[in-house]
Amino acid sequence: MTERLYLADDAVTAFEATVERVLSDPDRIVLDRTHFYPTGGGQPHDAGTIRVVGDGGTARWRVVDVEMRDTVYHEIEPVNAAADPDDGAVDADEPPALPEPGTEVACEIDADRRAAHSRYHTAQHLLSALLLDEFDARTTGNQLYHDRARLDAEYDRFADADLDRIEARLNELVADGRAVSSYTMDRETAEATLDTDRTRIDLLPDSIEELRIVEIAGADDANEPYDRTACAGTHVSNTADIGEVVVTGRETKGPDEERVRFALAEHVDAD
Ligand SMILES: [Zn+2]
Repeated sequence: MTERLYLADDAVTAFEATVERVLSDPDRIVLDRTHFYPTGGGQPHDAGTIRVVGDGGTARWRVVDVEMRDTVYHEIEPVNAAADPDDGAVDADEPPALPEPGTEVACEIDADRRAAHSRYHTAQHLLSALLLDEFDARTTGNQLYHDRARLDAEYDRFADADLDRIEARLNELVADGRAVSSYTMDRETAEATLDTDRTRIDLLPDSIEELRIVEIAGADDANEPYDRTACAGTHVSNTADIGEVVVTGRETKGPDEERVRFALAEHVDAD
């Protein structure tokens, strides 16, 4: 199976790899190793480009989807020559042959898109933790995008004053500049030692035996982390990197279930 490098280092956005398998309809490639994040855990896939190493850069593809099945599949489309005629990309009418297995490729991830996902994902961990701590509201789902996010939690109804308090607390935690770190742990140990309301291990498929744990540091004088969650997504390394967060609204998701919408301040229209 493809070595999933983004689990060990979620800051890398350029890397080289070898093509292992090529599939068509749609065109997809499997690499021996990848930093491309596949859609999962409420986080959208990465985008970027792949080019063949050592042939003058004539063949280049855009990565338009990344999917995790038995391994990681990168769906690719030839880069249109018209968009950038001087970079040696081929004519769109005659797309390059797909890279053969064994081909060395240089990969570049859209860093802005990745950074936005990492910021939203880390904000979601803070929000889940504070809703549990301060409202006894357990997170039941989440979805983030590059410019907004939402989170569902078991709760009767958040009043406007609650939303104000949630937003203020979120921004305190951001401003605290708390370290975010990750490590792996086997499932048995995790189930025996971690708070399962927080880690949500029960929601993971039984096939997953090794978990990636993501921790957000507690206050200066605390030994316990503020949050500790099993998560395979990408995150920033310090909560300060999230930037200002705005709670943009709420709605009823179902009986005793609330949906909270939030966005980074730079993605909220000033009005
Ligand atoms: Zn996460």
